[in-house]
Order: sequence, then C-alpha cells, then structure tokens
Amino acid sequence: MAAGMPAADDHPASLEGKLFTVRRKAARESHIKVDRLLCARCVSRVCTYICPAGVFVWDQARDTLDVRHENCLECGTCRVACEMQAIEWSYPVWGTGISYRRS
Ligand code: SF4
Repeated sequence: MAAGMPAADDHPASLEGKLFTVRRKAARESHIKVDRLLCARCVSRVCTYICPAGVFVWDQARDTLDVRHENCLECGTCRVACEMQAIEWSYPVWGTGISYRRS
C-alpha cells in the first residue's frame, strides 16, 4: 500500500467508512424481528446483500439468519425487499438508533 493511503477498512467507500458517518446507539432489544421459519424457506436471501449496513448475515454453521440490529441505518430497504415478508421492522425506541455526525 502506498504511503498515506487509507487501509481498506478506513476507506470512505467501505462499509466501515460509511458507518463512521453516523452515530448509533443500539437498544438492548432489536427493532427488527424476523420470522425464521419463513427465512429457512427463502431462496434468494435478498436481505443478506441488499442491506447497506450488512445487518443480515446468513450463519452457515447454525443455518439461520443472524440479525445485527445495532448496525441498522433505518433506511427501510429490507421491509420492501423481503419477498417472504419475513421482516417486521419498527423504529428503534426513543433515544436509540442513528443520528448523523456533524463534520
Ligand atoms: Fe438494513 Fe436499511 Fe433494513 Fe436497517 S432498514 S436493516 S439499514 S436495509
């Protein structure tokens, strides 16, 4: 890597770089609920690649969907994209969720 170049994880276009632009305060309880029985029947698993924050990860070892709600950017994409309608999404409780950092 050339001197002065940011590491891959620090690059502004990386997921980590984008997530750095928001401040997140995760609630203890997830604001995203999934119906895992429906997820098990889903073929596309669109949520695992359409979420800009990487909230949904298919856990191969446990053969189930892992939901990292603390990373959610509250964009709403998953609610529209899930063809199984297996995602129940609500806004995080007051005082939690995301806020944008001032530069
Ligand atoms: Fe990901 Fe947006 Fe759904 Fe949050 S609302 S889990 S950021 S797709």
